[in-house]
Amino acid sequence: MSELLRAAGRLDGKVALISGGARGQGAAEAGLFVREGATVVITDVLDDAGAKTAANLGETCVYMHQDVTSEDEWAVVVASVVERFGRLDVLVNNAGIFPAGGVLTTTKADYERVVAINQTGVFLGMQAAARVMVEQRSGSIVNISSIAGMGGSAGFIGYGATKWAVRGMTKSAARELAPFGIRVNSVHPGIIDTAMLQTFDAVGPHVRENLNARIPVGRSAEAVEVAQLVLYLASDESSYSTGSEFIVDGGWLS
Ligand code: NAD
Repeated sequence: MSELLRAAGRLDGKVALISGGARGQGAAEAGLFVREGATVVITDVLDDAGAKTAANLGETCVYMHQDVTSEDEWAVVVASVVERFGRLDVLVNNAGIFPAGGVLTTTKADYERVVAINQTGVFLGMQAAARVMVEQRSGSIVNISSIAGMGGSAGFIGYGATKWAVRGMTKSAARELAPFGIRVNSVHPGIIDTAMLQTFDAVGPHVRENLNARIPVGRSAEAVEVAQLVLYLASDESSYSTGSEFIVDGGWLS
């Protein structure tokens, strides 16, 4: 992996905002972005972890508290980024939750909670960032969906619904924002080794081993393996890609 992580200045001069960046994939993306020359703002509700992640990444990474369900907090965060760093080039809508619960068992409150974070949070983020990017006439928005946004997922009705919504919103926003030089793409990870997988452990024993056995490459992924793809979409190397799904799943959907 170390060869892949060698810095090449692929985000030199860019300012990036990553939601849910305290840990997991968001933190891996922040690490790669910093290494590639970006100034990075990570946000989260986990303040201790977020502050520690930013401190470990050095002076070009800062942490801000943000609950992505709050329109006011999106306004504050984006205004702070622009005030402090002068622009906003990249938004990674990464924050999310993965609650278990099927169509027969999920309560309305549980359903609305996952929609608020995984779906409305992405909408609010795109809106707040795009208002700045439209003025700049440039920007890249990367929305983290899932393989659950490409097919059905028994036992995860709310999660699946929101990840399909992210995929759909991405396409509509991509068409609307293309004339302003803003690209919007969705990323669809498979089984990635982060704290989120604890949901499977709660569902039952051996769920994770059974899942891993179904992955053609025979293993789950490290967070950085998703971050490499997000880096490409954040950079100008992906200048002709917008409104597209980018799958990183070890062959799961093949
Ligand atoms: P993670 O749980 O480590 O990271 C998610 C982060 O989002 C956490 O730091 C969490 O505190 C933050 N968050 C949750 N609610 C928030 C809120 N209201 N406001 C701000 N931040 C909030 O898991 P991860 O695997 O790094 O997940 C990152 C993204 O990848 C998520 O959107 C997830 O749905 C998606 N994803 C994960 C997997 C996987 O297998 N891990 C697979 C497909 C997609």
